[in-house]
Amino acid sequence: MQNKSGQAPLIVILATGGTIAGSGDDVGYVAGQVGVKELVAAVPALADRPLEAEQVAQVDSKDMSHAIWQTLAARVAHHLARPEVAGIVITHGTDTLEETAYFLHRVLSPAKPVVFTAAMRPVTSLQSDGPQNLLDAVTLAAHPGASGVLAALHGRVHGPVDVRKALPFALDAFSSGEAGPVALIQEGQVRPLRPWPACQALGLDTIAFQASSWPRVDIVVSHAGVDGVVVDALVAAGARGLVIEGTGNGTVHVSLLAAVERAQAAGLPVLRGTRCAGAAVVGAPAGALPSAGELSPAKARVELLLQLLSSAA
Ligand code: ASP
Repeated sequence: MQNKSGQAPLIVILATGGTIAGSGDDVGYVAGQVGVKELVAAVPALADRPLEAEQVAQVDSKDMSHAIWQTLAARVAHHLARPEVAGIVITHGTDTLEETAYFLHRVLSPAKPVVFTAAMRPVTSLQSDGPQNLLDAVTLAAHPGASGVLAALHGRVHGPVDVRKALPFALDAFSSGEAGPVALIQEGQVRPLRPWPACQALGLDTIAFQASSWPRVDIVVSHAGVDGVVVDALVAAGARGLVIEGTGNGTVHVSLLAAVERAQAAGLPVLRGTRCAGAAVVGAPAGALPSAGELSPAKARVELLLQLLSSAA
């Protein structure tokens, strides 16, 4: 989708589904129903902007797959390499947006803005938040100086390390926890608050293997009464890495820890995160499992997966 307006920079919108493309009532809707051209057409303020739109997938993001990540990363890299493209917007479901954003951050760490957006209500809702979020995302993708993987949601811009869906139903569902947002978008104006995210990109070669043969990395939760049965079963099932979602500051039940140490001894890399939302695991006491630091368990799983892929590449 491209129009003739001269001045504004070209933005590519890649759609993957989610509630932003959903149809139905506020709870009983079906995600991933409406095509990207209709999403754009629902925002009159985008009518005169130079945009291209591409449907990469059409899924409820609770069902996000490694294969879609692989396709999406390739399409993002393709468009980033085009000199005439200033930035990219990705429409996505809210459930796993933070995982896909962290994945692209580590694989591509783009110099141009790659802006995720989403909605908590389908397009058919009286409270539909998708059109404003899409407009904000395009504004951010065209903002001079913006760079890296970002998420524009409910007037806030989150970075890929900190962004997290914190509330299951509220319109203002996303948070960057203790770190806070990277920027605000108010009345069409971007107000940066801290540096744009960047990291050492691993590169597309890291994820070139067929997604169905990517190493298995699982998350195990520490809780009252837990034992090592799940860890032992995962190792037996071929897990190649484990993330332990610890209690408090990344503490792990003694009965679970014994099984995790057996898995480590068998060669599995392990990262230790926390069930507490929106905050980092602080410090690394002697003998503790390696810390996931500021990464949530879901993002630590992506990190471990990418580390395993890059050591095999
Ligand atoms: N289940 C939906 C999804 O993640 C929720 C949403 O987009 O808000 O695709």
